[in-house]
Amino acid sequence: MRIGIIGAGISGLSAALAMRRHGHEVEIFQREAGVGGLIETFDFDGLRIEHFYHFLCATDFGYFGLCRELGLEQRIRFARARTGFYHDGRLYGFSTPLDLLRFRPIPMSQRIRFGLFALEARMRKEWVQLDELTAKPWLIDRLGKRAYDVIWDPLLALKFGGYYDAISAAWVWHRLHRVAQSKGRMGYLEGGTGLLLDTLTERLQQIGVRIHPGRPVARIIEEQGRIAGLALADGTSWPCDRVVSTVPPPVLAGLLPEGWEGYAEALRRIQYIGVVCLVLKLKRPVSHNFWLNVNDARAPFNGIIEYTNLNPLEGKHGHIVYVPFYVATDHPYYRMDDDALVAKSWEALKRIAPALQDSDLLGRHVARAPYAQAICTTNFLKLMPAHRAPLTGLHLLDSTFLYPEDRTQSGHILKAVACAEDIAE
Ligand SMILES: Cc1cc2nc3c(=O)[nH]c(=O)nc-3n(C[C@H](O)[C@H](O)[C@H](O)COP(=O)(O)OP(=O)(O)OC[C@H]3O[C@@H](n4cnc5c(N)ncnc54)[C@H](O)[C@@H]3O)c2cc1C
Repeated sequence: MRIGIIGAGISGLSAALAMRRHGHEVEIFQREAGVGGLIETFDFDGLRIEHFYHFLCATDFGYFGLCRELGLEQRIRFARARTGFYHDGRLYGFSTPLDLLRFRPIPMSQRIRFGLFALEARMRKEWVQLDELTAKPWLIDRLGKRAYDVIWDPLLALKFGGYYDAISAAWVWHRLHRVAQSKGRMGYLEGGTGLLLDTLTERLQQIGVRIHPGRPVARIIEEQGRIAGLALADGTSWPCDRVVSTVPPPVLAGLLPEGWEGYAEALRRIQYIGVVCLVLKLKRPVSHNFWLNVNDARAPFNGIIEYTNLNPLEGKHGHIVYVPFYVATDHPYYRMDDDALVAKSWEALKRIAPALQDSDLLGRHVARAPYAQAICTTNFLKLMPAHRAPLTGLHLLDSTFLYPEDRTQSGHILKAVACAEDIAE
């Protein structure tokens, strides 16, 4: 079978590997000049690092399996990753049960409820009923209003910007579940996603998969209700029997052939939030935490990820800090000039870590992604499209299908393998 894959992110690349294993002829068409999509890297003054932070959890079995297959398993590292909380001008530890008991911004009774709730989320398996519930009232009911306002409100805003109060309880449960199972230890690949991408693309080339960077797909070609090929933006076409789309459903809607407007409309109902993410290189650390939640009216962000507190990068590249802003693409922060956004964030970082001085900011990079995260609202199960599109021969892979799980590289790899098996059947 000839299979055309749209997109060379981790989904497209791992799907190609799995499909080639089944003996199919596979080619990947990628819009950008580079591969990787959301895990793509850039050169940060001699350090190759991803535009967006990535960490691993103990249950990322799809990722571990791919690394094993590529001979990279020995490069996976796990380390204790501290979490902190900056609230109203004070920095608190937020990693251990003792930290929680000492977390004064919420009353003691709610600290205890929070701890019990985290334990319950770790053990819980059933989640379908939670799809119908909105996270905010569910969390207030379980934890208390103050605990919600102080802890969860900024966490949800960190991930979903202005949509934070429409998110389903199922998504929140799984987020807690995944992190709790890691028991305070997070992982990373030594060499980063750059190493993963290089090894994976090299393997694909060896087994005969062709990757076409800088050749976006303009339209899917259909003949009598079946997939017939891909029309590319350069005016050429590539005939095939199957198409695997790894682009977000609203983007796929724009690639469908004429006559599929109803299906396109259903795909467009899934909304996404964008992200603008600063990567800063500092001479000294902000704190000793990997993940620092921020709930402070003066800070424009709700959290920072101090990557070098997980992966020290051999101490050669200073302190790398990611500052993400999950916002709609028409939000002023998404459109703000890079220098202005960095300046605004830098002022807030200096407030959090008063020892920081202007001379400590050694470098900065700003990345944007318009489709960073599907907005997992209540009854999201009803919005999710099927893996097999009504257009015969079209298969969909996207983070939407991971729900209630958060989007992870590992989840995408497992879905790609499952898609290959589905096609083989
Ligand atoms: C800020 C941030 C933090 C994250 N943190 C983590 C983390 O800690 N751990 C973790 O596991 N995951 C994390 N993720 C998630 C992870 O990066 C993504 O889930 C994953 O990389 C998505 O891979 P994908 O291949 O499905 O999609 P993408 O990476 O989006 O790839 C799709 C590709 O399709 C291409 N494309 C679009 N239109 C066309 C077209 N017309 N023709 C051809 N190609 C096209 C795009 O250019 C893109 O390269 C994070 C993501 C973000 C944004």
